Amino acid sequence: MNSDSLGQNLSFFVRKLSVIDMEFSDFFDMLWTYLGNPDESKDNKGRPKFFCHLIDLIIRTPQTDVEDEKAQSGDLNPFAGRVADTINKYCIGSRPIPKKDAKELLSRISNGKKFIDEINFSAPGARESIRNKLRDEQFEVTMSSLGEVCFKAMKAFLNKFKNAETSVRPQDVKTNQNSIDNLRLLYDVDLECPLCGESLIKNGISNAIAGYDIVHIFPDNLNENEKSKFTKIKKAPENSDALENKIPLCLNCANVYLNNPTLNDYQRLIQKKQYIINKKQIAQDLNQLTLEAKLTKVIQGLKKVKPNLANSIVDYDAHTVEEKISHDYALQGAVSYYVSGYYNKIKDQFSNLEGPDFSFDELATTIKLAYFKFKREQLDQEEIFNHLADWILTKEQLPQDYSEASRIIVAFFVQNCEVFEVENAQ
Ligand SMILES: [Zn+2]
Repeated sequence: MNSDSLGQNLSFFVRKLSVIDMEFSDFFDMLWTYLGNPDESKDNKGRPKFFCHLIDLIIRTPQTDVEDEKAQSGDLNPFAGRVADTINKYCIGSRPIPKKDAKELLSRISNGKKFIDEINFSAPGARESIRNKLRDEQFEVTMSSLGEVCFKAMKAFLNKFKNAETSVRPQDVKTNQNSIDNLRLLYDVDLECPLCGESLIKNGISNAIAGYDIVHIFPDNLNENEKSKFTKIKKAPENSDALENKIPLCLNCANVYLNNPTLNDYQRLIQKKQYIINKKQIAQDLNQLTLEAKLTKVIQGLKKVKPNLANSIVDYDAHTVEEKISHDYALQGAVSYYVSGYYNKIKDQFSNLEGPDFSFDELATTIKLAYFKFKREQLDQEEIFNHLADWILTKEQLPQDYSEASRIIVAFFVQNCEVFEVENAQ
């Protein structure tokens, strides 16, 4: 080990050892600073009001008769009727939140959705500042987990107050599942920023997430106008916190995407994600060592597909996949992936088949006619793609576990022939 990296490791350990607990007053002050209403910061009523608001956000909707009664008499929030001065003391840390209140809140705490949304849909600048502040305190937090981590911290504080303590440490909030998910997402993108290619892990030592951030692919807090533009490309997932909606970026790109998400970057991230999904599907298939065998079987089977010899002559269409599938970025990503991995192999196999009982041109014409049939049914490109893959399986009487192989064949015809024409091309 040279002295440089020794020094780095030492400073890393020193940093780890110097982790100090975060006081509730610091945590509250951070949320108040970035999420509170600046108009209310002048008098001493603003903090208590914001404090009660945060508590409102974490209380579940009434589920028992007792809770119903409390709700009716306005006592659901135990701090609602308390003197502002007292609450101010909780906020600045000169008085701990009473054990009894903490216990009571924990017994009626919600799943955190409202609280998490409040954070995730706040202004980009506020989220960036909260993330940075928490990272300074050694919390493992990413932009996409920000709301969740804050909610967990809130819960952790209540648990501490219940036991007459007032501070939490990063371990109290960390979950193994989060770390595993982060690692998985990192390896999915081969440890490189999908937008600029920069390496996401610096110097190999840090377990901290200093070099990257994980963002939601469908951006949070778009205005209505932006939202409809983004939705046109691909609609928002039902659960924005699902892994499918998360992707790691370098800090720089993450900050840019947070503050100014462009349609172009959105498209690229969707493509990348789709690419990853296909790669995994194929890896799964390869684990069974069967995909290539299946592919060969599907190709051999095409030999027996009775050609549809209409007078149509097949045109080999040299447009790129991007030109032919110009609106559906997920499908574009999938087809590009299949083509990049299998085009040449398939081409070789077809040319080996060429002979008195097989003509590639005839097959291409048959596939093209099937394509036109589905197109006439007004299906969109993804539906046509899926129908063609199923069509091949039906013609060959193969079961569904050949569908990945069949989709790869369809991608070959998209690349090679007139399956999907370029719109407006003359
Ligand atoms: Zn980047």
